[in-house]
Amino acid sequence: MNTIALIILIAIVFDTVINIVADMLNLNRLQSEIPKPFQDVYDADQYQKSQAYLRVNTRFGWLTAVVNLAAILGFWFLGGFPFVDSWVRSFGKGPVLSGLVYMGALLLVYALLAQPFSLYATFVIEERFGFNQTTLKTYLLDLLKGLALAVLLGGPLLAGVLAFFAYAGRFAWLFCWAVVVVYMLVVQYLAPTWIMPLFNKFKPLEEGDLKSAILSYAASIQFPLKQIYVMDGSKRSRKSNAFFTGFGRNKRIVLFDTLIEQHSVPELVAVLAHEMGHYKKRHILQGMLFGILQTGIMFYLLSFTISYQGLFDAFFMDQISVYAGLIFFGMLFAPLDFFIGLLTQMRSRANEYQADKFSAVTTGNPEAMVAALKKLSVHNLTNLLPHPFYVFLNYSHPPVLSRIQAIQKIEL
Ligand SMILES: [Zn+2]
Repeated sequence: MNTIALIILIAIVFDTVINIVADMLNLNRLQSEIPKPFQDVYDADQYQKSQAYLRVNTRFGWLTAVVNLAAILGFWFLGGFPFVDSWVRSFGKGPVLSGLVYMGALLLVYALLAQPFSLYATFVIEERFGFNQTTLKTYLLDLLKGLALAVLLGGPLLAGVLAFFAYAGRFAWLFCWAVVVVYMLVVQYLAPTWIMPLFNKFKPLEEGDLKSAILSYAASIQFPLKQIYVMDGSKRSRKSNAFFTGFGRNKRIVLFDTLIEQHSVPELVAVLAHEMGHYKKRHILQGMLFGILQTGIMFYLLSFTISYQGLFDAFFMDQISVYAGLIFFGMLFAPLDFFIGLLTQMRSRANEYQADKFSAVTTGNPEAMVAALKKLSVHNLTNLLPHPFYVFLNYSHPPVLSRIQAIQKIEL
C-alpha cells in the first residue's frame, strides 16, 4: 500500500469514527427534563417522542455509515475500480464517452445500494413518528425524475469537464471553472420555474391577511418581493419549512403548506422576515461567491493531481484516465472538503443569528420569531440540547435554544 492509499484510508475511517463519537456525545446529553423555554409548548410524552426520534435516527445512521464504509473499502480492495475500468475500456471508446459510462456505472451502483436505507428511513422511521406522507408511487417517481435530471443536467457538464481535461492542456482547470460556474448559475436561475415544479406544485399565495401582511412588511424594508408561493410540502412529509429560491428577477419566497397550517400570521411574517434578512444581509451572495471560489480552488488542485501515477497505484489501476482521476481526487481531497465544510457551517450559523436579529428588529416583534422557532422545533421533533461537538460537526443552524436566547437579548 502506498502513502496516498494510506492517507485516503485513514481519512475515510477517521470520518466514520469521529461522526460516531459525536453521535454518542449527543445521545449522552439527553435529559428527561424539558428545557425551560419549552415547558409551555412541550408535554412530557411529546418530549419523550422527540428523544426517541433522535435515538432511532442515530442508530440507523450508524448502520448506514458502517455499511457504507464496508462497501467502499470492499470495492476498493477487491479491485472494483480496475475491474469496471477494463469493462469500460472493452468498448474502445474515447476518454469522454468512456468517462461517462465509468462514472455513470459507479453512481448507479451507489444509488441502488442506498435505496434500502432510504426506503427504511422514509417508510419505517418517518412513518413511525408520524411524519411520512410519501406514497410508494411518489417515492419511485422522485427516484426516476432524480436519475433523469442527473443524466440530463449532470451528463453534459461532466462530459465538458472530461473533454477539457483530456484535450485543453494546462489551462483546462480554468475553462472547467468558468463553464461550471456559468452552468450552476443558469441552473439556479431556472430551478424555480423549470426544475422544482417537476417535484412539487407551487401556487401563488391567495389574497388575504397573510399575503397583505407579508407584502406590507416587504415594502417596509424595501424588499423587491413580487412572488410568494405555497408549496405542497405535505405531499411528502408533515415537517414544515420556508425558503428562498432563484435570484435576480426570478427570485421567490416559498412557504410549505404545512407551515401555514401551523403558524399565526405574525409568526409567518417573522419567519419570512428572517428569510428576507438573509437576502438583505447578502448571505446568499456571500454563499455564491464562496462556492465559486471553492470550485476554482478544487479545479486548480485537480489539474496537477489528476494524472499523478501514485494516485492510480493506490487504487490498483494500471492505466491512467481523466475519469478515474476525478473520482480518486475526490477521495484524496475529502479531508480538505471536510474542513471547508466546517468553515461553511460556521459561517452559516453566524448568518442565522444575523437573520434572526434582522427579523426581530425590522418586525419589532421578537416574540413572534421566538414563538415560531418553538413551534417549529416541537412540530419537527428537533433535538433541543445537541452536544456542542455535534453542532460543530453537523449543524448549519445554531441549536434552537441558543437562537431563542440570542433573540431575547436583542434590544429594540
Ligand atoms: Zn436562516
